[in-house]
Amino acid sequence: MTQQLFGTSGIRKKVTELSPEFAVNVGASLGTYSMDEAIVVGRDTRTSSQMLEFALVSGLLSTGKRVVRLGVVPTPTVGVATQDYGTGIMITASHNPPEYNGFKFWGANGGFSSKQEREIENIFLSGNFKRASWKKIGEIKERNYIDKHINLILDHIEIERKIKVVIDCANSAGSFLTPYLLRKLGCEVIALNSQPDGFFPCHELEPTKENLEDTIKAVRGVNADIGIVHDGDADRTAVISKDGSLIDWDDLLALLAYGKNKVVTTVDASMRIEDVCKKVIRTRVGDVAVAEAIKKESADFGGEPSGSFIFPNLHLFPDGPLAAAIVVQMVSEGKFYEILKEIPSYPTKRVKIPCEDELKSILMEKLKETISGEIDTTDGIRIRTDDGWILIRPSGTEPYVRITAEGKDEKTLNELVKMGKAWIKEAMYRR
Ligand code: MG
Repeated sequence: MTQQLFGTSGIRKKVTELSPEFAVNVGASLGTYSMDEAIVVGRDTRTSSQMLEFALVSGLLSTGKRVVRLGVVPTPTVGVATQDYGTGIMITASHNPPEYNGFKFWGANGGFSSKQEREIENIFLSGNFKRASWKKIGEIKERNYIDKHINLILDHIEIERKIKVVIDCANSAGSFLTPYLLRKLGCEVIALNSQPDGFFPCHELEPTKENLEDTIKAVRGVNADIGIVHDGDADRTAVISKDGSLIDWDDLLALLAYGKNKVVTTVDASMRIEDVCKKVIRTRVGDVAVAEAIKKESADFGGEPSGSFIFPNLHLFPDGPLAAAIVVQMVSEGKFYEILKEIPSYPTKRVKIPCEDELKSILMEKLKETISGEIDTTDGIRIRTDDGWILIRPSGTEPYVRITAEGKDEKTLNELVKMGKAWIKEAMYRR
């Protein structure tokens, strides 16, 4: 069955499509599905989050669940609390604009798998909700997990010397945690955009160079040792270097993977990661797939070139504040810029080719027939050559097929992209 509710990261829609009735039924569906007695609920700072939370909580209580309310917290804080209670839900649309919102579901081992999401969706669509008798309707407990989350990180991370850090929480959920965490670590903290505001007046929430011009200026202006930026729900972290450049996420991923034994990353990550650690396991795109592979392979680190990083010695979900603390620790120990210098850089290219949604799967099948040689179909089609790789993947949200390629040099890269385009052209006309 095609999924109607869930996208690549839980349920995410414009608020005009997210009525209170919708949220009540999401809550009732989760309450019907989950075997745990209590469900953790957190939300971000969006103007619609509180409205959705009250409706969602009503749905959960109606099924007889207890609700553990965390208030406004980063998504990873819901992850931390879910380890104690078993099931959790976060109300957020991550980096989407303020007129969006959504729900992300959590189990004790990280985000819900697509199988679990399908089960929730089936309950939602059927309307067959459990209803508790009047004696068994659930109740709300409020819990402070911000301090627990901070203390969990402080138990593992220390800094060697006081450094100056600029932190930009994008007016969102990270504002309640990361500036305090960094201060407790012993940093001098300059917090920007760290007052909650559901209109996000600071800048758009995706941490790109264009969106972060002012933050970059601030890092340079105050002579900070490093700048840290979160997305809207602080599961992801971007880093600005002391000279004021936004560090490429593939570089940051390789830097955090540096010297590790077994690392999990996704098919779209740069090959520079293979240069800096012993073994790399590649999965399909998404933090749930990365977490599953880390567990299966007992890997010591995992991440994606979207700024989500998983450190399995603490837990199995992307944790922006934890990534921030680890970066700050590395800077204080003098390792960060040393390692950054050692990360090789290769040219990459991303190309979009128009393709109607209903033709995507036919095209991918035909591509498999068109391409000779060894192909990796973990997620899309990936081909490795001696000096580069190419990935062809249908977009999950737009009518395009995307080519991502990386080569040791520009010439190799251009040849790879040319080859990819030729394959797609041939497959499109193949009968
Ligand atoms: Mg996010």
